[in-house]
Amino acid sequence: MSEQQWLIPATKGLGFKLDKGQIVRVTDVEGEQVADFAAYNASHPNERIDPGVTIDALGKMNVLPGDILYSNQYRPLLTVIKDTVGRHDFINSACRPEMYEVLYNKKDHASCYNNLNEVLVEFGLPAPDQHYTFNLFMNTVIDPSGKVSVERPLSKAGDYVELRAEMDLIIAISACPCSESVCNGYHCTPIAVEIL
Ligand SMILES: [Zn+2]
Repeated sequence: MSEQQWLIPATKGLGFKLDKGQIVRVTDVEGEQVADFAAYNASHPNERIDPGVTIDALGKMNVLPGDILYSNQYRPLLTVIKDTVGRHDFINSACRPEMYEVLYNKKDHASCYNNLNEVLVEFGLPAPDQHYTFNLFMNTVIDPSGKVSVERPLSKAGDYVELRAEMDLIIAISACPCSESVCNGYHCTPIAVEIL
């Protein structure tokens, strides 16, 4: 098995195949950088990672090594092998151009939605109406009143997550291009990806 590794430049995306049993390590190179993570069944692309289903199946919104990330069809897609951060986001969908218009009054802003679509088309996957991603390193805090706030990521330089594929997958990752908020510490930086 040949080793594969990539550096996703700040604000860009990456797509690749991950075969069943392979482990991918996603590293926050400089710290405080979110990576939106999408995964599709390589044979049946109508099956994809589903953070809402994962919350339902796990009964929680945090994952530990050994926990499974589920598909929209309630089947195991990936298993968490290692996690040096322990705080990721399950509830926010991928940022998209309209979000930057509404929240920041900026037109034609780079977005995770477009980054993911651009890499997935290389694998023949059509653009979905939205990406419901597992947002690595994103620090979303929900207080008891229900108020939701995106806080500075807890990830430091070199922190990583390792995920093992439980079926043959197509993976897409976006180094989130939002520099307007504390989501990425107001500064977009690269994400490293390696198939172990
Ligand atoms: Zn984003």
